[in-house]
Amino acid sequence: MPESVETVVIGGGQAGLSMSYHLARKGREHVVLERGRVAERWHSERWDSLVFQFPNIMLRLPGQPYAGDQPDSFMDREGVARFVADYSVRIAAPLRCGVNVTSLRQTDQGSFLLQTGQTALEAKNVVVATGPFQLPSIPLCSASLPFSIHQVTANRYTRPSDLPAGNVLVVGSGGSGCQIAEELREAGRKVFYSIRRHRRMPRRYRGHDLIWWLEASGMTDYTSEGMPPEWRNAKAPLMTGVRGGRTVDLRQIAREGITLLGSLLDIVDGRLHFAADLNENLKAGDASFVQFVRTIDAFIEREGMALPPEEAFDPLLRQAPEPLREIDVLDMREAGITAVVWATGYRYDFGWIDCPVFDERGAPKQHRGVTAVPGLYFLGLLRMYKVKSSFLWGVGEDAEYLAEQIAVGRR
Ligand SMILES: Cc1cc2nc3c(=O)[nH]c(=O)nc-3n(C[C@H](O)[C@H](O)[C@H](O)COP(=O)(O)OP(=O)(O)OC[C@H]3O[C@@H](n4cnc5c(N)ncnc54)[C@H](O)[C@@H]3O)c2cc1C
Repeated sequence: MPESVETVVIGGGQAGLSMSYHLARKGREHVVLERGRVAERWHSERWDSLVFQFPNIMLRLPGQPYAGDQPDSFMDREGVARFVADYSVRIAAPLRCGVNVTSLRQTDQGSFLLQTGQTALEAKNVVVATGPFQLPSIPLCSASLPFSIHQVTANRYTRPSDLPAGNVLVVGSGGSGCQIAEELREAGRKVFYSIRRHRRMPRRYRGHDLIWWLEASGMTDYTSEGMPPEWRNAKAPLMTGVRGGRTVDLRQIAREGITLLGSLLDIVDGRLHFAADLNENLKAGDASFVQFVRTIDAFIEREGMALPPEEAFDPLLRQAPEPLREIDVLDMREAGITAVVWATGYRYDFGWIDCPVFDERGAPKQHRGVTAVPGLYFLGLLRMYKVKSSFLWGVGEDAEYLAEQIAVGRR
């Protein structure tokens, strides 16, 4: 007979632990199963130099407000992993580490059967908290790279010295791509950087960090239904917390020696083909920057906040920048490129769940984490309910809601 538990939480990251906190508060029996260590992805799927992209003040989990004395600094990745691990101890989470759930299905009686290696568990409820970023998503053309080229995804990239000697192509204009490109350039590599549409914001504006503004102005509380149009398909902004945090400016990166390229279209016979959209993409990034600044200015005025204006951004608001050269084809051998870093986003990996709750792209169909299968819940997905649903300091609200659903015996 499999061991029986009322609720199984799968995943021992910030989401699974927040769930555990709220289930414990309601006195609900549960276990948290984690295939590796607590906060495993912060240990093994983030490059060495990564620092948390949110200032320390945002290191908050349910029942644990920020208590340090450096609210404006940025924590390194091992510090973040330690913070989450310490939290698991403080809340005495009923954790079982090294337990990989390999399959999940519903029984004829409506409970759930979870297979974990040699053993099985039966549960009335299951909360899947296995992360918003599960498997790297890479373009199909990656298969056309010459065999001699080393390729690595952002979640497996570690440090510049682990790449073969030579020049590097970085693809992807999210938070990972821009940070890895900068790190490689600083390590003395010649970097080619392919960007698409992106969003960028000032790291600090009128006295506060951008994350502070996003929270204070209510932008991280937007739900998918209540979101303004410009947020609907908005990408995660380019951000860095490295060396105390600074604004990511791709034009500045280009001035410092990185060769910017448009979207990568294809790879044929060792030649990289790019769309002629570099300047369009930069323009869209600038527009998002200006829109953010204007939104915050309007918020400050509405709230009557006495904050001096920020002069430094005036030139960007006034003048159109010089266009950069568009490159449509680059021969990898001639350009000396020996390695490619794919920082092209992530996808879900729920193939091990045999329940009819997924859409055609493999994403769970849910509302606030509740699915159409009674007792099956998700937590920590990207924008699962609000913009902040997958954030360290935001996931607790959804966890509390799900704990209520479980406690009132929705099933
Ligand atoms: C490069 C990068 C930088 C980031 N920076 C920030 C940041 O600065 N601030 C921020 O808020 N967010 C950041 N994020 C997002 C960050 O990944 C998430 O905020 C956070 O890790 C999500 O926590 P989670 O608990 O939902 O998921 P995860 O941390 O992914 O935890 C899920 C856990 O589930 C476990 N697991 C998965 N499948 C199974 C299974 N079948 N059985 C058992 N266990 C399983 C995994 O081992 C993992 O430990 C960043 C993401 C990336 C990729």
